[in-house]
Amino acid sequence: MAAAAEEIPKSVLILGSGVFGLSTAYSLTQNPKFANTSITLVDRSVFPAPDGASIDSSRIVRPDYADLPYARLAIEAQARWRNEWWGQQDVYHEPGLAVVVNKDESDNGNGDLGRKYMTDSMANVERCGLKPGKKSEGAATGKGGSSVGDFGYVNWRSGWADAEKGMRVLRARVEKTNRVNFLHASISRLQFSNDAVTGCETDDGKLLTADLIVLATGAWTPALLDLRGRCSATGQILSYIQITDAEQAALGDRPTLLNESSGLFIIPPVNNVLKVARHGYGYCNPTTIPHPEDASLGKITVSLPRTHISHPGLEIPEEGKKALRSFLAAVYPSLATRPFLNTRICWYTDTPRGDWLLSYHPRYKNLFVATGGSGHAYKFLPVVGDKIVDCLLGEPPAEFKDKWAWPERDVEDQVWTKDWRGGVKGMVLEEELKKGENKAKL
Ligand SMILES: Cc1cc2nc3c(=O)[nH]c(=O)nc-3n(C[C@H](O)[C@H](O)[C@H](O)COP(=O)(O)OP(=O)(O)OC[C@H]3O[C@@H](n4cnc5c(N)ncnc54)[C@H](O)[C@@H]3O)c2cc1C
Repeated sequence: MAAAAEEIPKSVLILGSGVFGLSTAYSLTQNPKFANTSITLVDRSVFPAPDGASIDSSRIVRPDYADLPYARLAIEAQARWRNEWWGQQDVYHEPGLAVVVNKDESDNGNGDLGRKYMTDSMANVERCGLKPGKKSEGAATGKGGSSVGDFGYVNWRSGWADAEKGMRVLRARVEKTNRVNFLHASISRLQFSNDAVTGCETDDGKLLTADLIVLATGAWTPALLDLRGRCSATGQILSYIQITDAEQAALGDRPTLLNESSGLFIIPPVNNVLKVARHGYGYCNPTTIPHPEDASLGKITVSLPRTHISHPGLEIPEEGKKALRSFLAAVYPSLATRPFLNTRICWYTDTPRGDWLLSYHPRYKNLFVATGGSGHAYKFLPVVGDKIVDCLLGEPPAEFKDKWAWPERDVEDQVWTKDWRGGVKGMVLEEELKKGENKAKL
């Protein structure tokens, strides 16, 4: 019944149809070792999940990583984004990425993390044989000493992807294989024996079973498995602004702008909508739930998503609005007062080092966990499924063997990643939302 790494399971049940789950399903269909394996992909949302991390207008695709193995893997992914199949899907665009930092990072609360990240990324990009544009002092500074950034470089071999479209075309590609059974169901609980997962309970009272369970439920994963000190949901802010045809024509082909001191970034607009967002420490949302593996152990508190689907009308906190607004004003002064068309809190699954978690569970032998995207997994959509299947087969890429392995539990239950981020560490969503309410009452 249980699937050790070297055994080929007769049935695989993948929970979650985001980047990790969907790409795993596709890669399994392409791997001859799994030719006789039945594959089921379950998601609680009708595809595409409106609050899934993988679904949005755009995601940055950059090899600009301070960590060399991820830089190399991103280059491998880009080769596929540009290749015959992905290259024909009109998903990936390559107008470049301008990476900037502020001269003084002290008010960003992240020390010189952003500057170090930028310098190391640039070195890695060069090490990988790419030629970033010259590092330029002051070139990115906006009017009035704004927070656009003071110096940085452009990598003309970076780009962005239409995230939702990328997921849609991959989904259609998976459907075409006729190998995957798609199920619309919400998993309320995994059933555990001492050393295995014996079934997955759905909200409507069904029990799903398989030789191998792949848990890829993104930021909701800590509701199904005790991941304290290993994975936490952190809420990240996004805003969208309506622009005119003329503005779309003027801005559409510009490089993405990413300030690595503040984490704020602007991706080129699509269909007259400009996106301003922040790659930050985000907000945690502490939620007390029965211990997901054994209710007799009492309750635990973990950070879980709160989204516009679970909480209709949810807006981003005032501090987030202010940060996005001031970056927009600095970069595009003519758009400074344009109202937000929409805002959204989107949830990362953060890990202590920013490494993904792609590993069998050390205790439950037929449970493979594929999560921990840490805000940077989308760009790997064309390759990550293959890597997950390598890990399933007990053959992780050598340079990622330790990074993706089951991690030690961090000292703190709530993970505030040590990976590079902008913004303030330690914000609690509820508290930040209340600050806005109180201000409104004054
Ligand atoms: C705001 C934001 C900006 C980002 N920007 C970038 C970027 O520029 N570049 C980049 O490379 N990456 C970026 N990322 C990261 C990237 O998008 C994520 O790492 C990746 O999408 C995570 O995929 P996932 O499969 O883990 O999660 P998800 O896409 O969230 O998938 C999880 C799925 O599980 C389903 N699910 C959850 N619970 C259950 C349940 N109980 N039962 C059944 N189904 C369930 C959900 O409906 C969902 O479809 C960003 C992420 C966010 C949030």
